Amino acid sequence: MTQLNLVFLGPPGAGKGTQAQKISKKFGLRWISTGDMLRQAIKDKTELGKQAEKYMKRGELVPDEIVLGLLEQLLSTLNTGFILDGFPRTVPQAEKLDRMLEAKSLTLDGVVFIDVPDEEIIKRLSARRICPNCGAVYNMIYNPPKKDEICDICGTPLVKRDDDRPETIKKRLKVYRNQTAPLLDYYKTKGILIKIDGIGTPDQITERIEKALLDMGK
Ligand code: AMP
Repeated sequence: MTQLNLVFLGPPGAGKGTQAQKISKKFGLRWISTGDMLRQAIKDKTELGKQAEKYMKRGELVPDEIVLGLLEQLLSTLNTGFILDGFPRTVPQAEKLDRMLEAKSLTLDGVVFIDVPDEEIIKRLSARRICPNCGAVYNMIYNPPKKDEICDICGTPLVKRDDDRPETIKKRLKVYRNQTAPLLDYYKTKGILIKIDGIGTPDQITERIEKALLDMGK
């Protein structure tokens, strides 16, 4: 399998995490979620986690020095292709990523943009549940666990993410529109943006992404 270095982009709740996890398995890539790394740091009560927590609870972006520090460490240990999920989230982060990759003689092959309209996002995020133990993600409407609110994989009771409350959802969408959406033009100009219709079942969307990635290699 070819080495692919990808970014998954989209509004909160577009299904980036779910899809990044599935595609990384299929293509043998490392899945890197900055949101998960930050949630883990909060759970572990590290100094960095303590600093990040207040921003995340408010639905705001965590300062660059925190996220970049985490990511830089991780990229230096990588020996496979990767999917970045939740990074970059601003144009300055994208520029920083370009420089980090360049320093390692790596290139970004594609940016998968999962397109979902706002009304659908609010519906999805309100129904999202995560497993606090293994990180599996469910949706009580579209992708419910087999047993009510219990993780299929490890049997742990599911929880709502702290930032999936209505007020925080609105704030995150605003942050996305103002700070992250400009990345679409940034990557379109570079000719590596791949737009995927994010409405459908998780399996349908995985198929669309897979096909687009295979077409890219032709
Ligand atoms: P996610 O799991 O990707 O939805 O991220 C959850 C939260 O983590 C975001 O709302 C931000 O507060 C923070 N976060 C994740 N990735 C980044 C990033 N690249 N830059 C700044 N904050 C981030």
